[in-house]
Amino acid sequence: MTVEKIQIDTLVVGAGQAGVAMSEHLSRLGVPHLVLERNRIAEAWRTGRWDSLVANGPAWHDRFPGLEFEGLDPDAFAPKDRVAAYFEAYARKFNAPIRTGVEVRRVERNLDRPGFTVETSEGVIEANQVVVATGPFQQPVIPPIAPEDTSLTQIHSAEYRNPGQLPEGAVLVVGAGSSGVQIADELQRAGRQVYLSVGAHDRPPRAYRNRDFCWWLGVLGEWDAESVQPGKEHVTIAVSGARGGHTVDFRRLAQQGITLVGLTQAFEHGVARFQANLADNLARGDENYLALLDAADAYIARNGLDLPEEPEARAMLPDPECVTRPILELDLAEAGITSIIWATGYSVDYSWLKVDAFNANGRPRHQRGVSAEPGVYFVGLPWLSRRGSAFIWGVWHDAKHIADHIAKQRAYLAYRDASQRRAEAAPQHDTAAPSASHLQQASLTGVR
Ligand SMILES: Cc1cc2nc3c(=O)[nH]c(=O)nc-3n(C[C@H](O)[C@H](O)[C@H](O)COP(=O)(O)OP(=O)(O)OC[C@H]3O[C@@H](n4cnc5c(N)ncnc54)[C@H](O)[C@@H]3O)c2cc1C
Repeated sequence: MTVEKIQIDTLVVGAGQAGVAMSEHLSRLGVPHLVLERNRIAEAWRTGRWDSLVANGPAWHDRFPGLEFEGLDPDAFAPKDRVAAYFEAYARKFNAPIRTGVEVRRVERNLDRPGFTVETSEGVIEANQVVVATGPFQQPVIPPIAPEDTSLTQIHSAEYRNPGQLPEGAVLVVGAGSSGVQIADELQRAGRQVYLSVGAHDRPPRAYRNRDFCWWLGVLGEWDAESVQPGKEHVTIAVSGARGGHTVDFRRLAQQGITLVGLTQAFEHGVARFQANLADNLARGDENYLALLDAADAYIARNGLDLPEEPEARAMLPDPECVTRPILELDLAEAGITSIIWATGYSVDYSWLKVDAFNANGRPRHQRGVSAEPGVYFVGLPWLSRRGSAFIWGVWHDAKHIADHIAKQRAYLAYRDASQRRAEAAPQHDTAAPSASHLQQASLTGVR
């Protein structure tokens, strides 16, 4: 183990897509940097997701500008291992200075000199800037209403891998964002009886008039929306690239055999209670769906595009019985439910980051990733600068902005007044002060 203390200008923590994008932009601007990753490049895509997951966006869209998915139809949805391999190849492309298997354990501002002291599993690093690229989905969140019944198998969607992992019996999936919906669908297709608890959601059409919804959100400026619409803070987005990609339609899932229930409210003595809001949630999801079709039609008309009409996209299936006569209470044992999957989202853990960059709720205080603590940056968080920020293509653009900011600050600090310039022009006998390239070299050899 190396415990040598090394110096680096900019340290990036995490080598998921956010860390790789950061490294590319810092490299382009000539900023000496090092990326530390505690596991492997794009580990979340390798081992943090279920076996059958494919990207939610098509290959032409869910990628960085500088590289396409080799050997994959641009309209296909990349399997998760292909996504991981893509980021590994991308990092190789520009020889990103990434050290894997090194965990950052503590970052603290120096009190007597500029920069930060960084404790890692391999020793101590001094850095002028720290970019936090540790991901938006770090800690699975299971709400406190989860029953304490030990006879039930309860896992978070982050632990779900495949249907065979669950004991025999019916499954309650709580949460109908992209994860919950895809997992419920897979379980039902594997022969399980499935109950799916549906809260507020948006469910854009997979494609409309020969364009994927990723294209529509792009041309309509929705990926670039800078803040969540008021009232939409707790609305999840339900989309799927599974089986070649399809529109998430809850009524079709019900037709297929999944029993829909409203938002899960409580568990008492083996009985689950659901809010009476299923029909409302579906209606609001429909409104969002139809609003996108309207906006797409208007865009086509305004721009005179020749894209085929698709009136059938507006046809809605009739409400199934589980919507017209909603289940408000469900005895889990009577329903044969042996497992609950909590597809209820994630939180973040910055306990290792001992800096003044957080609000009272522990969320980063920042402007487009430039934090309230000078020298500390965040990248990859949802809505960091816009709707697309936590997604593959969006993070690349946010990383560019942050790298620019770092380069500008370095340029200010490189300024020398006349007396300093004269002193530096005088013959030097001591060459101890390391140049940027020395620091870069140190970083590459110091941590293994
Ligand atoms: C189920 C699911 C499906 C998704 N599908 C899509 C999709 O299809 N398209 C899309 O655009 N987005 C998708 N996303 C969203 C997002 O693109 C991914 O979650 C992506 O992995 C986020 O990338 P990231 O680099 O920000 O974080 P991560 O991929 O989580 O990378 C962070 C890295 O930091 C490392 N790390 C953390 N702490 C430390 C530390 N202290 N020291 C060193 N290393 C550390 C971790 O090991 C990890 O490798 C999906 C998300 C989920 C949950």
